[in-house]
Amino acid sequence: MADNAGNSDNDNDSEYDYDLFVIGAGSGGVRAARMSAQHGARVAIAEQQYLGGTCVNVGCVPKKLFVYAASFHEEFASAAGFGWTLPPASFDWSALRDNKNAEIERLNGIYGRLLNDAGVTLFSARAVIESPHEVLVDGQKISARYILVCTGGQPFVPDFPGSEHVISSDQAFFLDKLPKVITVVGGGYISVEFAGIFAGLGVETHLVYRGPLFLKEFDQDLRETLAEQMAEKGIHLHFNTEINSITKDGESLVSNLSTGEMLTSGLVMYATGRTANIQNLGLEKTAVVIDKRATVVVDDYFQTKEPSIYAIGDVIGRVELTPVAINEGMILADNLFNGGHAIMNYDFIPTAVFSQPNLGTVGHTEAQARQLYKKVDIYRSKFTPMKQTLGGGADKILMKLIVDAESDRVVGCHMLGEGAGEIIQGLAVAIKAGATKADFDATVGIHPSAAEEFVTMRAPV
Ligand code: NDP
Repeated sequence: MADNAGNSDNDNDSEYDYDLFVIGAGSGGVRAARMSAQHGARVAIAEQQYLGGTCVNVGCVPKKLFVYAASFHEEFASAAGFGWTLPPASFDWSALRDNKNAEIERLNGIYGRLLNDAGVTLFSARAVIESPHEVLVDGQKISARYILVCTGGQPFVPDFPGSEHVISSDQAFFLDKLPKVITVVGGGYISVEFAGIFAGLGVETHLVYRGPLFLKEFDQDLRETLAEQMAEKGIHLHFNTEINSITKDGESLVSNLSTGEMLTSGLVMYATGRTANIQNLGLEKTAVVIDKRATVVVDDYFQTKEPSIYAIGDVIGRVELTPVAINEGMILADNLFNGGHAIMNYDFIPTAVFSQPNLGTVGHTEAQARQLYKKVDIYRSKFTPMKQTLGGGADKILMKLIVDAESDRVVGCHMLGEGAGEIIQGLAVAIKAGATKADFDATVGIHPSAAEEFVTMRAPV
């Protein structure tokens, strides 16, 4: 951390045009800019593309809208059991896409107003670093006491014969029309979520993943159960499979799989991770260090090796989640301009995969806990959602609590099922606060709910 960080009275403000120049108006950058301005700093922000970054434009927000769209499929199917007779449902992709686009434009506007109201100067242009205290933007050289790099990431597609034919999630949000058949590649959040979206919207969906089972960072039990349920919904899962090459055959793309099979689809979408947006940013004109993963090296205070330059969010490659970038931005603003000295705590960050059903998780998986603690108690419950008793369907809810037997602390909480993201967010407060299994047992359930199972599981497996 800079010696002068959080100690602005040592500095001569007028020496620079701004106290902080933020490059990238995504979730982290906007929050850091607004908070810094609220602490009295003179702040500018540059954005070359769209306000709100990946999350708002080609990530969390439009994805969740698509997840809602896809979920109607099952809602319609279960309606008859509750007495409803519906006309045959039909789906109009262009209506969904255009309504989504309009909503995103509305959010872009809100981001602009938030910055404006906070007194942040917005440059709708690409900014490039000229020196440790200078950026070039809109043809102007601007100086700043601190520069914050939060330029996010972009989809990574490996290079192989035919890779020029594939799309990434960036394009998937704006398709002219849906294909009849799609191949989605990867075993992370994006591939699993998009496989559920496409399948729910009626597209024959193939998920190709090089490993034995997707979502390798998550609890094995939940991964297996999610795979079973996705297969049950008709999603074709091709595990231990890679695409060697893709050829174009008229309107179709033929993927030559490592298993020897040929898979023909209208689109192939790669979701094989993301790389930091740091190319041609001028970082080479500074002492900023880039690591082997091509992310920006920062210390506990988000300071790079160049004392006046900081970085947060996906460019530092720690935890690539919107709320993490936002928290990093708030901590940095407080440290730089409000006398704070906090460091970000990355323990017990809850997260959800918006698959169908959702997978929500906080804390350690069973396998991780067994490595970390001497004795671990596992509480596990798998049951049929109440809605299915009349509505039909083959989903199962799976819940799991991982307890460090020595301290009784709940160190992992996992759920697969409708609303898992919402439920785990609530429980994450308890887990972060160090709740024990005894605290869970002492909590009264809400009946009838799925979530009550988390406070009624008594016998470890
Ligand atoms: P992830 O890092 O989650 O997953 C990438 C996947 O691609 C892995 O399964 C990986 O395989 C595979 N892969 C990587 N390289 C290759 C290759 N050369 N050939 C074949 N497969 C390859 O990335 P995503 O793109 O899904 O998402 C990016 C990030 O965005 C996530 O890590 C997450 O932090 C964030 N995100 C969060 C969401 C949420 O909160 N709900 C939603 C969407 C994204 P392997 O497993 O073998 O390494």
